[in-house]
Amino acid sequence: MDNFLIERCSLCPHNCKAKRLDREFGEGFCGLPVLPGICRADKHMWEEPNISGINGSGTIFFSGCVLRCEFCQNSEISRRHCGKTVDSNGLIEIIKELEATGIHNINLVSPTPYYPVIVKALQKYKPSIPVVCNTSGYERVETLRALEGLIDIYLPDFKYSDNALAVKYSQAPDYPKIALNAIKEMVRQVGTPVHGEDGMMKKGVMVRHLILPDSLENSYGVLDMIADNLPEDIYVSLMAQYFPTGNETHGELKRKITAEEYEKVSGYMLLLGLENGFVQELVSSSKSYVPSWDLL
Ligand code: SF4
Repeated sequence: MDNFLIERCSLCPHNCKAKRLDREFGEGFCGLPVLPGICRADKHMWEEPNISGINGSGTIFFSGCVLRCEFCQNSEISRRHCGKTVDSNGLIEIIKELEATGIHNINLVSPTPYYPVIVKALQKYKPSIPVVCNTSGYERVETLRALEGLIDIYLPDFKYSDNALAVKYSQAPDYPKIALNAIKEMVRQVGTPVHGEDGMMKKGVMVRHLILPDSLENSYGVLDMIADNLPEDIYVSLMAQYFPTGNETHGELKRKITAEEYEKVSGYMLLLGLENGFVQELVSSSKSYVPSWDLL
């Protein structure tokens, strides 16, 4: 995995060849150094029911991101390096502390720029509970292969079927094709969800799609791509929690989704026969779902 970084960084599809190894702050699109910043490590109760359960998901929120989503709901931490800086041993300590609290899984949120450190940590210490990779979906297949055997559950976003929208809102060229190929690789590694007797997901892929305002065709297209290309029993989590944060420059993003948009997309999902998974209630669109951060 270090090979992705030693010369020039090619971890994610931006493939910007940035020198990150010997720098405190990186070059490249993400601008991140090699060692991760952890902005929060705590029990999280607002993931899907088969991820959060009764005891909560042990979320580790990494700073920075390989996307620049205009509608990011965690923009306070996703645009920069912040939080507590750790190496692989520091990450193991955090994982062990969370594991000891009785949570259902270790949930790595926005981990992509830090995979080399994460791989090193999980090779030294694999927790007894599932490890979740909670990602934007903008991933290179070659990079994901290095995670095989270390990740139990993939929780990728599938944000766009419309490439122009991916560029406009997230600066993510070719997102639809790249995300689909990445999710196929995730399915190859861990398959569709396997649940334990407690109803908690132990292994597999669950694809998330956030409905955006004024983007019905984009959502229909994402659901079509899932139905046409992924196993028919794939789990889909349709999310309705979008709310404007005040950072939006495009006028259509300055409102929540409407009940009509929500009903049309959730109805289309059922029409396609995508019956496994979850549809978030529309009342979920609230800033109260954003955790508070440990910013250093
Ligand atoms: S992880 Fe950062 S530096 Fe590396 S390719 Fe992606 S955006 Fe560029």
